Amino acid sequence: MRAAASRPAAILFDCDGVLADSEALAAMVVAEELTERGWPVSPEECQHIFLGRAVPDMMPIIEQRFGPVPDDWPARMSRRLTERMARDVVPVPGAKAAVAALRAAGMTLACASNSSRAELSAKLGRLDLAAAFEGRVFSFEDVDRPKPYPDIYRAAALSCGAAPEDCVVVEDSLPGIRAGRAAGCRVLALVWDMPEAMLRAQGAEPFRHMDELPGLLGVG
Ligand SMILES: [Mg+2]
Repeated sequence: MRAAASRPAAILFDCDGVLADSEALAAMVVAEELTERGWPVSPEECQHIFLGRAVPDMMPIIEQRFGPVPDDWPARMSRRLTERMARDVVPVPGAKAAVAALRAAGMTLACASNSSRAELSAKLGRLDLAAAFEGRVFSFEDVDRPKPYPDIYRAAALSCGAAPEDCVVVEDSLPGIRAGRAAGCRVLALVWDMPEAMLRAQGAEPFRHMDELPGLLGVG
């Protein structure tokens, strides 16, 4: 682990589960949608199955378990998620204060998410965080391959004028941690229900509350 004093060139935030406390809400919306289509599934199951995945990556899993899905399903699902996020999503505790502290310390911040562009912008808007990441927001739609591929974190680092090796990624899911590590970044992982050992095994440094983040990055 690097010393906390070595100041990163930029901080690359995942959105869901790091900034937006959205995973449970997203799981509820997906469960509602699938259940309405005659494929009964609980929000808990959805969260377990789909955590950190982009909507297109959900398709093969859904088709394998439930059978063929209409072509317009990803677009409908994305629309429904966007509407609910714009209305109901809340911040992860401590996330807004951590972002404010890092900005006040002059750090460059980017956001890289497996959400659609519209959904990501709805979440950052609702959380009043759009200005913190202005011009440095990346959806899976902005790159060739979503997480767990490194493309999105490479693009985010580039937008900050930084080499990925000099950036710190803040994540919470296994696909996200893999993406950050594959890009060459140091990865801090906020612990929710995933065992710390599992996060460490993927090469992340676990932490327990967003209040700790500025200190871990040598700020405050
Ligand atoms: Mg996440």
